[in-house]
Amino acid sequence: MPTHRPEVKAAHWAISNRTRSGRLPKATTLKCFDCGERADGYDHYLGYAPEHHLDVQPVCASCHRQRTIRRGEWVATDKFREAHSRRMLGNKIAVGVRRTEEHKKIIGDLRRGKPGPMLGKKFSAEHRRKISESNKGRIFSAEHRAAISAAKRKKPT
Ligand SMILES: [Zn+2]
Repeated sequence: MPTHRPEVKAAHWAISNRTRSGRLPKATTLKCFDCGERADGYDHYLGYAPEHHLDVQPVCASCHRQRTIRRGEWVATDKFREAHSRRMLGNKIAVGVRRTEEHKKIIGDLRRGKPGPMLGKKFSAEHRRKISESNKGRIFSAEHRAAISAAKRKKPT
């Protein structure tokens, strides 16, 4: 978790102390509160105030991320984006990766029915302006236009 405010740390400590001493079952032995898959950790669903340090629900990593985004806790700062972009520069790890059909099916099943990764995120006015600028003057082929038109007819907005 990229947030390391003191009250967050204290809340996490309260939980890890209890799981280590056996007073609280390990989250990985429980099912995700939201989707029923194996949980990966506990979510402080009422926040990190001291009186809520023990108010947790087991959740899987994916649902935990969605919760944090929905609560507006995890917002990528410009500083984070910049640093991450620098870290990923020249990264060829996933280039040309071929996944087996079985692996693809697993990934697909995991993602199905979950809110998309953009849920709750908003592009800044600046970002929207940049997208708009870069799209100006684009010329689509007749084939491309027909494809867009067909797709739009299928799902009304
Ligand atoms: Zn889940």
